[in-house]
Amino acid sequence: MSKPEVSNADGTLFVVSTPIGNLEDISLRAIDVLKRVDHIAAEDTRHSRRLLQHHGIHTPMLALHEHNERQALAGILAMLTEGRSVALISDAGTPLISDPGFPLVRACREQGIAVSPVPGPSALIAALSVSGLPVDAFCFHGFLPRTSGARKTRLAALKPAGITQVFFESSHRILYALQDMQEVLGSEREVCVARELTKQYEEVLQGKLGEVLATVAGDPRHQRGEFVIVVAPASTATTEVLTPEAQRILGLLLEELPVKQAAALTAKITGEKKNRLYQFALGKS
Ligand code: SAM
Repeated sequence: MSKPEVSNADGTLFVVSTPIGNLEDISLRAIDVLKRVDHIAAEDTRHSRRLLQHHGIHTPMLALHEHNERQALAGILAMLTEGRSVALISDAGTPLISDPGFPLVRACREQGIAVSPVPGPSALIAALSVSGLPVDAFCFHGFLPRTSGARKTRLAALKPAGITQVFFESSHRILYALQDMQEVLGSEREVCVARELTKQYEEVLQGKLGEVLATVAGDPRHQRGEFVIVVAPASTATTEVLTPEAQRILGLLLEELPVKQAAALTAKITGEKKNRLYQFALGKS
């Protein structure tokens, strides 16, 4: 059966975002592209079948997951080179964001094959948008390490960061991750724990780490499902320890100099720690 053409789609890889829970959270264009491409490369074909059926999409699927990614790549590149169009989807949200797809997109870019986004949901952006924490700048880390030691080392390195930090977390580790965060970042740090977004048991807990941890630890129901943890910048705490004079000088220098130089010069003038000034500047500049 011949397919209607997606305009300018010959040999294009479409990177298509799909819902993170609610099956209706998919764009009209995403449905159209998924219907019209020659193949859909899916992380888990059985999982995605439900979404495709729900929207009346009958395009053939092939599997592209982290265990076969390198092998599947050659076949998909051959299809694209022959002029066929492929849509890449993952189980939920935006492909490549803690999901398979990077080697494929990279290879397409290297070989001059067109790659086009069909944007839509991502748990990362959905959580940030409701967190009530600063989103003007943020750093996304994917999943924290599985072991407590490695997790704490990673968290310690992020402790002074002057911008919001975002992590994915699973039901198995949410409690341990929050406990380690409290130990390393302190119970006063503001966080948002976004659970099961767009699903039946959606829940967004926001407050001081100590309070949020107490809520999550207090009832196993708060530990079920999928989580995004958003951690507030350290800048509020840093503001308290930077003298007003250091803040004033840093502010003046930032008007003229790049962050690194402004922090270094302020450190020389005031005797404050360069790194602390740098982190403060990142949160403010
Ligand atoms: N690529 C996906 C995206 O853009 O949202 C993320 C894939 S990653 C393998 C899965 C993780 O995303 C989950 O473990 C959880 O941390 C987060 N996540 C996915 N759906 C979620 C939801 N509905 N609510 C909260 N977190 C979610």
